[in-house]
Amino acid sequence: MFAYNPKSLCADEFINHEEILDTLRYADENKNNVALIDSILEKARPRVTEKGTFCSGLTHREASVLLACDIPEKVEQMYALAEEIKKAFYGNRIVIFAPLYLSNYCVNGCVYCPYHKKNHHIPRKKLTQEEVAKEVIALQDMGHKRLAIESGEDPKMNPIEYILECIHTIYSIKHKNGAIRRVNVNIAATTVENYRKLKEAGIGTYILFQETYHKESYLKLHPTGPKHDYNYHTEAMDRAMEGGIDDVGLGVLFGLELYRYEFAGLLMHAEHLEAVHGVGPHTISVPRIKHADDIDPTAFDNGISDDIFAKICALIRIAVPYTGMIISTRESQSVRERVIRLGVSQISGGSRTSVGGYTEEERPTDTEQFDVSDQRTLDEVVRWLMELGYIPSFCTACYREGRTGDRFMSLCKSGQIQNCCHPNALMTLKEYLMDYAGEETRAIGEALIQAELDNIPKEKVREVCKDHLAKIEQGIRDFRF
Ligand code: SAM
Repeated sequence: MFAYNPKSLCADEFINHEEILDTLRYADENKNNVALIDSILEKARPRVTEKGTFCSGLTHREASVLLACDIPEKVEQMYALAEEIKKAFYGNRIVIFAPLYLSNYCVNGCVYCPYHKKNHHIPRKKLTQEEVAKEVIALQDMGHKRLAIESGEDPKMNPIEYILECIHTIYSIKHKNGAIRRVNVNIAATTVENYRKLKEAGIGTYILFQETYHKESYLKLHPTGPKHDYNYHTEAMDRAMEGGIDDVGLGVLFGLELYRYEFAGLLMHAEHLEAVHGVGPHTISVPRIKHADDIDPTAFDNGISDDIFAKICALIRIAVPYTGMIISTRESQSVRERVIRLGVSQISGGSRTSVGGYTEEERPTDTEQFDVSDQRTLDEVVRWLMELGYIPSFCTACYREGRTGDRFMSLCKSGQIQNCCHPNALMTLKEYLMDYAGEETRAIGEALIQAELDNIPKEKVREVCKDHLAKIEQGIRDFRF
């Protein structure tokens, strides 16, 4: 038997099964304990001080009590608090990115993924460097500045050298005014040495979804291939951090296991990173299983409703206030609208989840990793966000200015975000409007930028921002604070 220890480097100890079961029992016992629930909500509230706004976050136990609680009035208070925290740290900015699928060759047997090795009728594709360049040009022409690269796991077909070469190609393409300024990487768990190489290649966040924190289920859901090794997979973020990557992105594939178990595991993982490395996860993703080629999501009986999904998003926002939250086009427009309000800070737009998808006239479905629910163009997504009162941000400044890991967290906590992220969002939106937007989107965007300039607190920053906006109008690009 393993004992729970958030500081341990052994997966069975920092994601401890007994501790999760205990947590769920404790949450059940206290789900109607109004005094305790009120005190947990009180603890999580933002505190405004002279030095900035602070939030203490919640432990996995505290957050699990809130997740178990069904008292309508308390659930409403959770939603209101999530919105308040979202506004305090992320304002009305939403960061935009797109996935880029490099290769669907895969040696794993993940039972929920159409790229599994035994799927013989799906065409296997791996982009050449010329094809990567074409995809990147297509993405730049849409207006994207930030990508998440995705690949199956196949040491022969997609070795680390291939991934590094692709990153190099992506950063080297400068088409018209376009540039990809941040490449996040979502590839299989690997060695410290390989993480170091990714860091040297200039990646932003290293993203790896845990899929499920339930070890027994994990072993069944990943019956074959290197991904079968639960401990190696679960301990990947520690190796990534040892390799020098200090922005890591966690995620659970909701639908595989009981959501309350996953939620506790996810927060324990965040607590572990904080305890060992002094910095929590940079982002958390919340994918839900979708239909795909030979995958029927109803075959997995732990699917969650939109209401539970919204509650999970709100509670992640409350429990880990400084961690960005990502939602992809797996979700529909209406679900995205709901959870953006509750805490999501990054969304993908105009996505194609197939290898080579961006250079096809029609959305190809033969190599799609999952069906895309939100099929709108990037321009439509940008306009929709602005109509809802959000500022679509193409900002990539933080990691290029060295504000990663705990330095990013200090910016969050210092109250300077509004003097930094806010003008950066306005300037990168301006670039988008000048170079890529449709007429209607541009008109809405210009009015939004004018109005939002007033929300930059420091006069000096506001003046510099206005000057940069004028220069962007004249054709100069890439300003940042
Ligand atoms: N192959 C990499 C790995 O081993 O982690 C990650 C890349 S994979 C392209 C990205 C993620 O897509 C997976 O981690 C999984 O959570 C998700 N995914 C796989 N099949 C899915 C499905 N049917 N519906 C929704 N998401 C899925």
